[in-house]
Amino acid sequence: MEYLENWYKHQTEFMQEFGSSEEVFEQELNKRVVTTINDTPIVVWDDAVFAILQISDEFEMGAAYHSGFKVILMNTKTWEMKAELRDAIIWHELGHKSLGHESIEQHQELEADQFSLSNGKNMHAVLVHIRAELIRMFAVMGLPQESIDAAMPAIDERIAAVA
Ligand SMILES: [Zn+2]
Repeated sequence: MEYLENWYKHQTEFMQEFGSSEEVFEQELNKRVVTTINDTPIVVWDDAVFAILQISDEFEMGAAYHSGFKVILMNTKTWEMKAELRDAIIWHELGHKSLGHESIEQHQELEADQFSLSNGKNMHAVLVHIRAELIRMFAVMGLPQESIDAAMPAIDERIAAVA
C-alpha cells in the first residue's frame, strides 16, 4: 500500500501549500489554464490531480470537472493524449458541468458519457483505454485481484452503453 501512503502524504503537503485560502488556490488554478472550451477553463496540474483525484501523473485518465471552481482539471498525460481521446474526456467533463452534477455516481457517469457521445466524441475508444489504465493503476497501487475485478462491472457498463 505504498501508493496510498504516498498519496496521503502528498495530499497533506499539497493542501498545506494553500492553507485555508480558496483565493490562493484559485490563483494557482488560473496560472495553469491551457485553453478554454465551452466557457470552461482547462487546467493542467499534475499535483492537484494526484492530490484531489488520487490519480498519479503516470496514468492517462486523470481528469475531473471541479464544480466549485468551474474548471476541468487534468494531468499532463491526459492533456497530451491524442485529440480524439482527449476531446471525448473533455466533453464527458463538460457533460458533468452542463447536467449540474455535484458527485460521482454511476448514473451520472453514464449521463456524462452520453453527453460526450451526442456531441460527436469517441466515448467508446476512450472508455476502453480508461479500463486498461484502471487495471494498470490498481496493480501499481497493490490492490488484490478481487478488488480490481470488483471495479470492472462499472466501467464495463459504461463501455456497453456507448457501444
Ligand atoms: Zn465522470
